[in-house]
Amino acid sequence: MKTSKKLSVIIPIYNESGIIDLLYERLVNSVTKITNDYEFIFVNDCSKDDSIQKIFAIAAKDEKVHYLSFSRNFGHQIAVTAGLNHVSGDCTVIIDGDLQDPPELIPELYLKYQEGFDVVYAKREQRKGETILKKLTSKIFYRILRKLTSFEIPLDTGDFRLIDKKVVQALKSMPEQNKFLRGQIAWLGFKQTHVLFNRDERQYGKSGYSYSKMFQLAIDAVTSFSDKPLALVSRLGFIISVFSFFIILYTIFAHFVLKETVTGWSSLIISSMFIGGIQLFSIGIIGEYISRINKNVIDRPLYIIADSNIDSVNK
Ligand code: UDP
Ligand code: MG
Repeated sequence: MKTSKKLSVIIPIYNESGIIDLLYERLVNSVTKITNDYEFIFVNDCSKDDSIQKIFAIAAKDEKVHYLSFSRNFGHQIAVTAGLNHVSGDCTVIIDGDLQDPPELIPELYLKYQEGFDVVYAKREQRKGETILKKLTSKIFYRILRKLTSFEIPLDTGDFRLIDKKVVQALKSMPEQNKFLRGQIAWLGFKQTHVLFNRDERQYGKSGYSYSKMFQLAIDAVTSFSDKPLALVSRLGFIISVFSFFIILYTIFAHFVLKETVTGWSSLIISSMFIGGIQLFSIGIIGEYISRINKNVIDRPLYIIADSNIDSVNK
């Protein structure tokens, strides 16, 4: 199935030193089954270990290996975005650098691409070695996200996928600062399909995605693709106001007509705590949207590159 088309592979790297040589070897084995015209772009997201030295060594002996090295940790989504800005292939594979996404699946993704699909994502049939909490939170999150958005975001997929250069081009035209790439790609449409695979365990090191980073990604996903939380809080406000109106009527009636002195400490404390909670929650939701508007208005560069062997970066 060898082709003369060029294939680019983007690999975000954060503290993956122990696995990079093996990763490179498996990538080469897999990609050369498809074409000899390929490039790898390793994006070092300011790893704390010696990942970058490993990448330097590989790049020194293989001119097809490019790298971008960030000045600080900007996060996985931004690392992939940086890669997308510098690929030159007819199609591009995005793959995690921890070998949880098996490089051997790339030819399968490519077969579907040859059938005419523009996006071929890898869908997890099984996820080995993840905690129950991680699997559960991710399952719940994707189901909620589906309800909140008006387009299909595929379930049980990460960023492991193959995309055509049309899709890369379209992604580059999406300027948001808070990236949720799998949502953006789903939003774009095009002809999409998937290939099933079993996600491997992490062989080395630990996940760079802390729960707080995952939470951040989840909020980015929701705020980028849905206004429903805002509609929800305004509806909630309306319902509570109607409810309060009747309570007010009753209170006036009880005071003037029934001449009851209401003792009511419990109801007072419950209602004020309830309203306080709802208000903070609502302000929080609005705040999340505003903070994103703010980021987009300030419009800083998404990332800063400290080092690279790509000519156009060093100009
Ligand atoms: N990663 C990154 N920056 C980060 C965290 C992770 O570039 O701040 C990379 C990491 O090296 C890996 C990919 O993103 O290649 C996915 O991260 P990880 O394996 O930690 O996520 P998980 O598989 O646990 O969801
Ligand atoms: Mg991983």
